[in-house]
Amino acid sequence: MNAELRAPAVIVLGPGALATAQRVKACYAGAQIHALQDRAPGDIAFSELGEHLRELYRRGTPLVALCAAGIVIRCLAPLLANKGAEPPVLALAEDGSAVVPLLGGLTGVNVMAREIGAALGIAPAITTSGELRFGTCLLNPPDGYALSSLAQGKRFVSDLLAGDATRIEGDAPWLDHVDLPRDAAAAHAIRVSPHVWDGDPAQLVIHPRSVVAAVRAAHERLADHVQAALDEHGLATASLAALLAPAALMGDASLTQAATVLRVPLRFVDLAHDADHARAAHLIDALKLHDATPHADDAHGIALAVARAPLDAATLGQARGKLTVLGLGPGRADLLTPMARAALDDATDIVGYATYVDMAGPPRPGQRRHATDNREELQRARHAFELACEGRHVAVVSSGDPGVFAMAAAVLEALEGADDPRWQRVELQIVPGVSAALATAAQAGAPLGHDFCMLSLSDNLKPWSVIEKRLHHAALADLVMAFYNPISRARPWQLDRALEIVRAVRSPETRVVLGRDVGRPGETLRTTTLGELQSSDVDMRTMVIVGSSTTRGFPRGGAQEALREWVYTPRFYAE
Ligand code: SAH
Repeated sequence: MNAELRAPAVIVLGPGALATAQRVKACYAGAQIHALQDRAPGDIAFSELGEHLRELYRRGTPLVALCAAGIVIRCLAPLLANKGAEPPVLALAEDGSAVVPLLGGLTGVNVMAREIGAALGIAPAITTSGELRFGTCLLNPPDGYALSSLAQGKRFVSDLLAGDATRIEGDAPWLDHVDLPRDAAAAHAIRVSPHVWDGDPAQLVIHPRSVVAAVRAAHERLADHVQAALDEHGLATASLAALLAPAALMGDASLTQAATVLRVPLRFVDLAHDADHARAAHLIDALKLHDATPHADDAHGIALAVARAPLDAATLGQARGKLTVLGLGPGRADLLTPMARAALDDATDIVGYATYVDMAGPPRPGQRRHATDNREELQRARHAFELACEGRHVAVVSSGDPGVFAMAAAVLEALEGADDPRWQRVELQIVPGVSAALATAAQAGAPLGHDFCMLSLSDNLKPWSVIEKRLHHAALADLVMAFYNPISRARPWQLDRALEIVRAVRSPETRVVLGRDVGRPGETLRTTTLGELQSSDVDMRTMVIVGSSTTRGFPRGGAQEALREWVYTPRFYAE
């Protein structure tokens, strides 16, 4: 993906920069404000600037830092020695009076500098000669096009800067309004073509991504074979827009690997007739690319087609669908794991109970949300599979951990019972989260420090007699117990009955921790004892942790904390 299309991280070190940061954020869908902890509020808090900038840079995130250019340069300096792909990096004066593109000339830093300059009503400090002269970076063609050789590109641009004129061969619509020194008879030429550059030093070759390669069967040396087919027709690898395969091969690892090696999206076509699988060219026929030149299958069953203009891979057949079941943690953003965050960002569709879909944060542009109020988990899981079968990236969200009284088991149950073979081809992944018991325990100290169990007191999905039996045995086993779903309007008496069962075995002094809305606004934490606990202290947003015989507490230090205590269960257990 072209880096300039990715949302930037807007870095803020103090409150004075917030107003400008908000204006930049408003320019880019999905942009987030990263603010220095305890100094300014933002979407994401960080504690150490250098480390944070380097981490974002390594991940290829465009950076707009509202601080001195020198600070940014010093922070990133250790990473600059090996010049690989670098994201755009800009320094922006906190009052919005100056924007300086620092790094990422080939990934659109000057484009961003112009955009930010326009939004703030200032002139960007562009220093790249080619950009200054021509108003665009010839070496950074738009999406759908790729430069054949960067080294040759640099030489070509310096020739133009030195006074040479150029002609344009082929379609380069983005250069129509660029102020290039043009001459139809010039020796220099910008050539837009899917064919490989022949090494002519007077040519700047830009490849449109206009070639599709279809494969009929998966095998280990697929990437080599596709490469050989391209070579045979004189087509550049960079011209490849997509690798196409029959839908029946979805999930095949050698296909995924070939697409990774060739750096192209992998797309699938569902052929109606088995006989059609005999030839790769049938896959291309099914795409109905009217202006494309097809090439028949070669010896390895690979067929190519060259379109007249760049192809949007997203419109060719369909992608393999993805279904990720993830846990959002208890609520606060910094308890959402980076893996879950990445799955949310990647999702085209978010499916879940309305409260949790809201908890996932504002949707990014184009993201669809399917918030349901119904408690029909299986139905929700089936809906998620149907969406994934269309090639969409679906995130099914739960609070806490998805495997703890939440959607992961429902999704697997739906899959096991499915008779639609397409469901089996969906790329399914479960991403863990910080469960309410763990978040509550951490607030209180370490009450789960020794053996414990998690129990749901809801008898919606299991008979109450089973719950009673488990409570009794867990109490006898002296396990610490974490109660999920302790009480609700529809289940008013169950908690009292549960406590009765536990009290019959454990002493009234047993430690109890109550966490309500942990990690959410208005969170409360209380410690009490089994003897004093009343069901009116508890509601459906509460986590109840009942200690074992060894769970203990002691006062916290510090003036404000004196009234609170640390609760923990020692690691050692005497017989
Ligand atoms: N999958 C979730 C649990 C869903 S069951 C997880 O792993 O946390 C819902 C129950 O979890 C609630 O009734 C409550 O007992 C508990 N719970 C969920 N979020 C909570 C929070 N932020 N604070 C306290 N308890 C919470």
